[in-house]
Amino acid sequence: MAEASAPPQPSRPPVGSGWASTPGRRLAVVVLTALAVLGNIWLLPLFFGIHLLLGSTAAVLALLLWRGWTGLAMAVLASLYTWKLWGHPWAIVIFTGELLWLSLAINRWNGPRSNDSNGQIILWDIAYWALIGVPLVLLFYGGVLRIDQANVAVVAVKQALNGLINTSLAFVIFLVLRLTVSQRAEQLVTLRGVFVALVLTAITVPTAGLTMIASNQLQIATQNGVLDVLSTAASAVAHTPLEDLRPGPVGTLRLGDVAYRRLDAGGQALSSDPALFARVDRDFRDGGRSYVHPRQLAILIPRRAMPLLKQWVNGYWAYSSGFDANGQPAPPGSATIEVQVLEPAKANVIRLQNQSSLMLSLFTTVLVVGALVSEVVGRLVLSEFRKILQPLQVAGPGATEPAIASHLIPTLSLSAVGELRALVDQINARIARLNLLTGELQQANQALASSRDELATLSRTDSLTQCLNRRALDDQLGTVLLQARRRGEPLSLLCFDIDNFKAINDSHGHPVGDQVLRTVAESVRTRLRATDAFFRIGGEEFVILLPDCSELDALLLAEQHRQLVSQAETPAPDGPLRVTISVGVSDFRPTSDSAESLMERVDRALYLAKRAGRNQVVHQ
Ligand code: GH3
Ligand code: MG
Ligand code: MG
Repeated sequence: MAEASAPPQPSRPPVGSGWASTPGRRLAVVVLTALAVLGNIWLLPLFFGIHLLLGSTAAVLALLLWRGWTGLAMAVLASLYTWKLWGHPWAIVIFTGELLWLSLAINRWNGPRSNDSNGQIILWDIAYWALIGVPLVLLFYGGVLRIDQANVAVVAVKQALNGLINTSLAFVIFLVLRLTVSQRAEQLVTLRGVFVALVLTAITVPTAGLTMIASNQLQIATQNGVLDVLSTAASAVAHTPLEDLRPGPVGTLRLGDVAYRRLDAGGQALSSDPALFARVDRDFRDGGRSYVHPRQLAILIPRRAMPLLKQWVNGYWAYSSGFDANGQPAPPGSATIEVQVLEPAKANVIRLQNQSSLMLSLFTTVLVVGALVSEVVGRLVLSEFRKILQPLQVAGPGATEPAIASHLIPTLSLSAVGELRALVDQINARIARLNLLTGELQQANQALASSRDELATLSRTDSLTQCLNRRALDDQLGTVLLQARRRGEPLSLLCFDIDNFKAINDSHGHPVGDQVLRTVAESVRTRLRATDAFFRIGGEEFVILLPDCSELDALLLAEQHRQLVSQAETPAPDGPLRVTISVGVSDFRPTSDSAESLMERVDRALYLAKRAGRNQVVHQ
């Protein structure tokens, strides 16, 4: 056996050969082999007559970890023990076939960069069982071992399920090992693999739990039914007088297939089928108690070596009990009548198997559908990631992350944590770039907003005197009048014009004229309140809007302005210049006034001031 399994040395190092240091790896090989062997000797009862072989998990894990011949040799070595377990060689053929198939899938068909698709091992396993495994089980168990068809169908489902569970488990363990133990990027798992494992685990674990609970209940119910029949029969046999049992007892009691033997206190023995009981004593043993739930029930199985399932099918359900003289169950030791009742196990084992097969089929379907869904989800997630990153690669955030940009898409498929790191780096680079752009955009927006405000201000301001312009007056006047009318507040308007300004221009030049305009504006500004608005509405004509100001106050203010302006000096080449202004004053009359009528009135006042000799205030 050891010779047959001795692995040829790999001609090239398998992809995963550097996964651990050599002594560490040797230890891992020994541990996994031990797990594989022990796991196949130790049966985990999944359903009645159906077991889980955890050893196969270790074997598939070895394949995933060491890829090449090492993994395959270990896996095959582990499979040899299934002979001991099943009592026949066919399981080895099927199991070895599965391992060979998976090994080819990992090492050959997926190509040298199969790290990319190590998550697909589950899909490959599904394919194996669908195409090869299940037909082989049907052939060997039905055709060669001649176990009846109902049981063979269940065994086929069970073997496939077992194989899938083992492979899925192995894959999840593989991912955990890779993510926790390995630090080398080229040996890491794929992003898709991680998603496949997560989704698959989330789908199958609850299903497995529920199926096992339901199956256990089913098993208990069926076995309790068997126990009921046998204990009723035993009680009947204990109650019936010996004389009535003696002639043709089976016919008399109508106990169907049930056979009994009774041992009286007086040592009188009676058996409904002495030949059967002689054979049972010789060829059968109490073999199935650990799979029988009611403690009083036992299953007798043949001593001959044969597959466990076949032993059960060919065995007998057995029940024995002691009764007192009145036919009541007697406490142990005080028995006066001993009765043992047997029933062939076949019908009930097949019934159990058939019912289990429904749940097994359901479980297998969930596992298969789960694997396919996981694969699809894995692919979708990956393609979404790539979609996110594609523009980055095309745009090449270049300046900042050129290496990542040029390598990203091709290396995505190589290894998962490396892949994840690259993705995270890329996404971070992208976010950083977005932040930068957002910052720039915000700045640009701010600049735009302030230049828009500036423009708006400019369009309403006179650049020479910094007063508001005619347009601003037109815009504001209506609103200010409305407010004054609504609030019942007074409002006054001042309009003034520089006297004989043309003469200044003519004799001192236009620039001096400009300077005079500025001086006048400055001088007026010194007497303005924060709420007053000051406009230059023409060449040397100005308006002051005085909210909350009565006519009297406006007249006083106008007089002050007139005096201030007349005292203000503008430097000129021929000595400082002084000018005077004529001022018109009007107050707003809320009931009769509009903006136009108010402007007309104040204009007339100004005109009258000019007519009256200039340098004075007139009220209208
Ligand atoms: P009056 O006392 O009747 O107002 O006489 P005036 O000379 O001031 O009146 P007029 O309307 O005849 O003259 C106004 C002058 O103001 C004409 C124009 O050349 C001058 N002017 C208008 N805008 C500006 C300006 O921005 N700068 C300068 N320097 N002169 C201006
Ligand atoms: Mg003038
Ligand atoms: Mg004028």
